[in-house]
Amino acid sequence: MSSSIGLEQQFGANNYSPLPVVLTKGEGVYVWDEEGVRYIDMMSAYSAVSHGHCHPVIVKALSEQAGTLAVVSRAFYTNKLGVFLQKLCEITGFDKALPMNSGAEAVETAIKAARKWAYQVKKIPENKAEIIVCEGNFHGRTTTIVGMSSEPQYRFGFGPFAPGFKLIPYGDIAALEKAITPQTAAFLVEPIQGEAGIIVPPKGYLKKCAELCKKHNVLLICDEIQTGLGRTGKLLASDHEGVKPDGLILGKALGGGLLPISAFLTRADVMAVFTPGDHGSTFGGNPLAAAVGAAAIDVLIQEDLVSRAAKLGDYMLKSLTSIQSPYIKEVRGKGLLIGVEINKEFCSAREICLRLLKEGVLSKETHHTVVRFAPPLVITEQQIDKVVAALSKVLI
Ligand SMILES: *Cc1c(COP(=O)(O)O)cnc(C)c1O
Repeated sequence: MSSSIGLEQQFGANNYSPLPVVLTKGEGVYVWDEEGVRYIDMMSAYSAVSHGHCHPVIVKALSEQAGTLAVVSRAFYTNKLGVFLQKLCEITGFDKALPMNSGAEAVETAIKAARKWAYQVKKIPENKAEIIVCEGNFHGRTTTIVGMSSEPQYRFGFGPFAPGFKLIPYGDIAALEKAITPQTAAFLVEPIQGEAGIIVPPKGYLKKCAELCKKHNVLLICDEIQTGLGRTGKLLASDHEGVKPDGLILGKALGGGLLPISAFLTRADVMAVFTPGDHGSTFGGNPLAAAVGAAAIDVLIQEDLVSRAAKLGDYMLKSLTSIQSPYIKEVRGKGLLIGVEINKEFCSAREICLRLLKEGVLSKETHHTVVRFAPPLVITEQQIDKVVAALSKVLI
């Protein structure tokens, strides 16, 4: 066994079960292991590496800023944060953005904004605000967030949990209508559920959710940490239905594959509930992150990664669907966020991932039965052909 694996196992917590490969280098869609073997990365760090590994333009922005000014905290203004927030608001069409680091922190920010808005603006009685969330959701790993999960393993042993959340089935518009009360502050939803196994809701779902939320003065908050910034073939997955949510949560790809950068975006009147001292983060919005985030947005636009994801996603979905194998139960997804559900009578998704590893393709199972294909958006048709051929080969 590699000594790197031994060290992780000896000194690390056992909260992941990585595939047995030790990565040392990355470039574009490729990563290399300790022996110099090259792999196509179909995971892209759970969609955080949309721009490809070590994108030269973003690396340049990082190293230049790292040698100039990296972290000063929000106790002071910097010459980088405003530019980043402006770019972010301009591409997404929101008035205001609040920068954080991890996705979970941006979700927590959205929850705090929704609750305070509910008390100050909607006049819900103190401590009564409810947030509706969906079964199968994944919004992160903080105690508040796992408290609103429906996944037993995410919750087990971590209670007691914060109250104020209501779970409804995903993709069920009648359930949302029934769950809304005068005390509902927000509906928090993923336009496509990533961690649940790439679950695409019925067409028109998000649009109807938006109409219901508007009718009842409920904030529609889309968690697009995984689906945002081009992943599904539109800048935002909510764009597929022409929906403009009241709040938007971004993370993952916002860091250009280099840093943890997240943000909560909303209208000026909602963001106005925050006043100095209400909320913050030591590292959130630091000039290093702001420079990298701004470069990540520039590259996304300059390389037209959004339409690439649409075109290549269609291509990949078609190629995968054409594989004839009893192993495959379903192929689903949008853009370059694709799940292949494996018939569990035949074998586990992990077994398929282990076989793909030997063929030079990296992926990871979700929920035991789904193999995820979410490569950097810079992938080419030829590289997709190689992956599809590798999958066909291991499904025998
Ligand atoms: C990954 C993810 C998160 C959590 O982001 P972290 O950076 O891991 O905290 C939240 N929501 C969705 C939809 C995600 O995919």
